[in-house]
Amino acid sequence: MKTDAFALRHIGPRETDHQQMLKTIGVESIEQLVYETLPDDIRLKAPLNLDPAMTEYEFSNHIHQLGNKNKVFKSYIGLGYNQAIVPAVIQRNVFENPGWYTAYTPYQAEIAQGRLEAILNFQTTVIELTGMEIANASLLDEATAAAEAMALLFDVRSRDQKKNEINKFFVSEEILPQTLSVLQTRATPIGVELVIGNHETFDFSTAYFGAILQYPGKYGQVHDYAAFIAKAKENEIKVAVAADILSLAKLTPPGEMGAAVVVGTTQRFGIPLGYGGPHAAYFATKDEYKRSMPGRIIGVTIDTNGNRALRMALQTREQHIKRDKATSNICTAQVLLSVMAGMYAVYHGPKGLQYIADKVHAATATLANELKKLGVEQTNTAFFDTIVVKADAKKVRTIAEQNEINFYYIDDNTISISLNETVSVAEVNEIISVFATATNQQATTIDSLTNTNHFPEHLKRTSSFLEHDVFNKYHSETALMRYIKMLERKDLALNHSMISLGSCTMKLNAASEMLPLSSPQWNNIHPFAPLDQAQGYQEMLKKLEQQLNVITGFAGTTLQPNSGAQGEYAGLMVIRAYHQSKGDHHRNIALIPSSAHGTNPASAAMAGMKVIVTKTLENGNIDVEDLREKAILHKDNLSCLMVTYPSTHGVYESAIKEITQLIHDNGGQVYMDGANMNAQVGLTNPATIGADVCHLNLHKTFAIPHGGGGPGVGPICVAPQLVPFLPGNPVIATGGDHAITAISAAPWGSALVCLISYGYISMLGAEGLKSATQHAILNANYIKEKLSGHYETLYSGEMGRAAHEMILECRPFKQKGIEVTDIAKRLMDYGFHAPTVSFPVAGTLMIEPTESENLEELDRFCDAMISIRKEIEASTIEDKNNVLKNSPHTLAMLTTDVWDFPYTREQAAFPLDYIAENKFWPTVRRADDAFGDRNLVCSCAPIEAYMEE
Ligand SMILES: *Cc1c(COP(=O)(O)O)cnc(C)c1O
Repeated sequence: MKTDAFALRHIGPRETDHQQMLKTIGVESIEQLVYETLPDDIRLKAPLNLDPAMTEYEFSNHIHQLGNKNKVFKSYIGLGYNQAIVPAVIQRNVFENPGWYTAYTPYQAEIAQGRLEAILNFQTTVIELTGMEIANASLLDEATAAAEAMALLFDVRSRDQKKNEINKFFVSEEILPQTLSVLQTRATPIGVELVIGNHETFDFSTAYFGAILQYPGKYGQVHDYAAFIAKAKENEIKVAVAADILSLAKLTPPGEMGAAVVVGTTQRFGIPLGYGGPHAAYFATKDEYKRSMPGRIIGVTIDTNGNRALRMALQTREQHIKRDKATSNICTAQVLLSVMAGMYAVYHGPKGLQYIADKVHAATATLANELKKLGVEQTNTAFFDTIVVKADAKKVRTIAEQNEINFYYIDDNTISISLNETVSVAEVNEIISVFATATNQQATTIDSLTNTNHFPEHLKRTSSFLEHDVFNKYHSETALMRYIKMLERKDLALNHSMISLGSCTMKLNAASEMLPLSSPQWNNIHPFAPLDQAQGYQEMLKKLEQQLNVITGFAGTTLQPNSGAQGEYAGLMVIRAYHQSKGDHHRNIALIPSSAHGTNPASAAMAGMKVIVTKTLENGNIDVEDLREKAILHKDNLSCLMVTYPSTHGVYESAIKEITQLIHDNGGQVYMDGANMNAQVGLTNPATIGADVCHLNLHKTFAIPHGGGGPGVGPICVAPQLVPFLPGNPVIATGGDHAITAISAAPWGSALVCLISYGYISMLGAEGLKSATQHAILNANYIKEKLSGHYETLYSGEMGRAAHEMILECRPFKQKGIEVTDIAKRLMDYGFHAPTVSFPVAGTLMIEPTESENLEELDRFCDAMISIRKEIEASTIEDKNNVLKNSPHTLAMLTTDVWDFPYTREQAAFPLDYIAENKFWPTVRRADDAFGDRNLVCSCAPIEAYMEE
């Protein structure tokens, strides 16, 4: 046995455990189990055609060599991406810390108070810098945040505007090119007409519902938008502003000018460039629009004891509830990055941010002045960090690149230079020298930066910001390190115990996959850097695309979408473009089974499709007869079917090929939701079952960590007929020959974290990947059998097997007064994060152990579930004061002098032996959702100010 094989590290069960596990399940071999699980007619006949697996050591060397093919130049390209300094204390204690990056989305608030507080800091930072009332917990990038702003303003049109079908949205020509491209993608299908122009000559006599402006403009001009926004208001036009977050420390925030929505990226708050992402975008608006706000909102509430507790607020806005009535499909966002940006604000505080903004501006002003002395003409008059100058671009470029410097070349004689936090006197001198050489002059050197404001005096920010305690007391490294640790300790992540989230595949995020992310060779490249400087990236991304093609059986892949839901949207837009290319503009019906994930109907609606819901049979499978009827009924207008495989019920439906054929016969394309790809890799694939396109959640199946709710990467892989339509980018050529406009801001989305999936696939190889899938099935069926007799498993395959996950029936416990939530909360006392609660079936738990968990952990989890089952048995409907209802139990509860619960402290906190060794203490009792929604507070203000009478 090769003991250095990565598969041995990634896969939990040891070979010596197999016997016992197989015996419990009642099969002879893993092969027999797979045979009994997967329909034979969809099994792959040959191994995946991938390169031999690398060991971790080999991968480390390989990725280092590949990284050397990237040329890390100083980047003054700007356009929404700026080199930033990641404070080392944040890099080490958050970015590189599994306590932060392996956490799940904070649905279980009581064991997520740490990251909830960190995100609240992020929201507060955004609210105060933009001058708005409410902000969300991040979006995917600035361009999609701008599109969400457009969708929100469209959604909140006045009754008259809706009646008169006012659908014009004004886009300032100052908008970033990638933002414009995403706006174009998103506008058309929902019936919004974009009008692009100059805001100074805007015609207010035409009816518009909204507008978006860029602040400062794409080439650095600082405009005073107050008059435009005021006039717009008179004309019932609501204005969104895409703003540079750092500039708002110096400039009047858009909120003070009357903006309805402010969006942007927080990348320059200590997030590496990463060749495009991941970065956290922000979205801030007015309180009155909170119910239409996309994404997650963290809010303050109280727990059972009336103590302050945080949790996700207003969850009824989410697509899980709204489905095809949703205006946004945002699910995974950029939580880890928002935590980092929030920590950056905590670490620097208001004075630090002010200092950084001043320094950036001073460097820019100094540069402008020196270039002027060289006779270089500058075209923008008011600026923050970007100047546009006239010079021979070709000449400048040659000299700049010799000096490892990138500018943005607008045309042959126009150059844009955006400065950033890393720039000091030395860097300014380097730039001066480039221009002196290009203009055949002697360079003068400066020895200090001059701090004069180069924007109108009345645009100077006068309001204070970030006065709250949290932004003013963690400014030494020791203090911040301990603050980060204090928060981390409140959270349960994968470095504590299994997180068996059905549909979310919380597997190992191996350190060897993560390490390259910290290397400047990889994380310090601008997404619009010339391709010849990004050869390492280009090779890695192409290779990953090929690997995903092989795994899915498809012909082409785009890595652009930044989440699974974004992938769904991309896939549907590609299907739409395909139908239109054949003149089938009318094909707009999407068939979606009732059990589908909420993002499916939400994405379909955003892609301009009409959703027809198809029935699910008693046994959880798609009702093929109902589907047939609807496919035939709508055959003239059928666009596609969206299907999850194995089904959301955790079953490999044997009729899948019949189902996909049925759709093709009626002129539709088949979209496969790939969230359950962990049950397919190496055994079957989407092409084999007859799909045309699927998204993959690289943050589920392919080992990118969840980060507490993001980052995500949701590539789509497509059959040959769809390849030409894969999305493009307006700055860097990518995508198909007939590419649709952009889905995301960056050409390759969140390129940096693609390294993780690349490492995962490269180190497992064909055999390891297949083995991972087999072990995922083994682990799931082991749990199923261990729990049988205690819990009923809903749905299984024809031979009684689960796929890689299973649904446990919990509804009958209502007769004992126990809700599924009680089980979820009680699991915390046992040191476990709950499985998926109430999806896809309300009142159930969906368990997915993944291949990474070993036998001991599976046994501990099963013991906990069985012990809880006994507690359920012992409770009665009248009994509201029992160990389940009172869960989770905090250390504070347990150590009070009075204990008046009808069970012992030991039963409360140490119900099983294994717990003592590794006790996890939830820090709050149950968070009160209703209270928090009635008293919505989404920033760091003290709760006393908001308590109910
Ligand atoms: C996770 C998931 C999605 C959405 O993925 P995000 O990355 O969160 O947008 C879609 N469908 C299913 C079945 C999922 O489990």
